[in-house]
Amino acid sequence: MTTLKISGLHASVAGKTILNGIDLEVSSGQVHAVMGPNGAGKSTLSAVVMGKPGYTVSAGSVTLDGVDMLALPTWQRAQAGLHLVLQYPTEVPGVAVVDVLAEAFAARGRSTDGIREQLSTEAARINFDETFLARSLNVDLSGGEKKRNETLQLAMLRPKIAILDELDSGLDIDALRDCSRRVEDATNEDGLGVLVITHYSRLLKELKPDVVHILVKGRIVSSGGPELVDVLERDGYAAFEGDQPETASSALDDLFGTPPSRN
Ligand code: ADP
Ligand code: MG
Repeated sequence: MTTLKISGLHASVAGKTILNGIDLEVSSGQVHAVMGPNGAGKSTLSAVVMGKPGYTVSAGSVTLDGVDMLALPTWQRAQAGLHLVLQYPTEVPGVAVVDVLAEAFAARGRSTDGIREQLSTEAARINFDETFLARSLNVDLSGGEKKRNETLQLAMLRPKIAILDELDSGLDIDALRDCSRRVEDATNEDGLGVLVITHYSRLLKELKPDVVHILVKGRIVSSGGPELVDVLERDGYAAFEGDQPETASSALDDLFGTPPSRN
């Protein structure tokens, strides 16, 4: 059982405060969704947890099973079991995905025996064309193919906790189903814990959240079950954009209690 614990996290970038006190706890096998309008700080949260340069943490902590992640360089966070699926996957000319994975396996003390066979099996599982496996990482891949490639790496590396930053951006319906289903399978098969950042409920059809958090202006203004997604679909973020968390709960009351005054 692994737990990623984010407590009172405040962070800034380029002198601007973006995260205003985030508390979040994700354990093995759980799926937590973070939803929020553009510019709310969702990608900043993933960047700070993973240690992307340029971000300053002014308060709070991020621990994985009690180990301070903020004190470690990114590669050590990854070896500890954290994994980030990038919103915009990086192209790496001259390096094939199998090379990346072989290095990562070796760094983790995992045998690379049969890695190509494993890769073929995993590629087939998400309908990722094998011809792409020999190509340079993400070079000349479509948006959807890049995300399948990211999902493939996640499946192969078997991290403890994965953050998915808009896995759904650039994905068509089929790719979305294949990728989100594969991540959901990992939660059941390997006990993967997931923090999934998304704008859209469609990703959450296959990858079923246990908890949904609404992030607005660098703060979680509401947390609840999957029913929060329905509130968002109906009302948008407007109901959550006041500074007070009460605004969000009144949207929930709306859903379960008094019928809405309009329509
Ligand atoms: P989201 O992912 O929720 O859409 P982001 O975390 O990407 O939001 O961005 C939150 C805010 O931080 C935005 O206003 C964005 O312009 C700003 N921001 C993010 N990264 C940088 C950066 N490197 N330099 C300056 N501002 C940034
Ligand atoms: Mg973002």
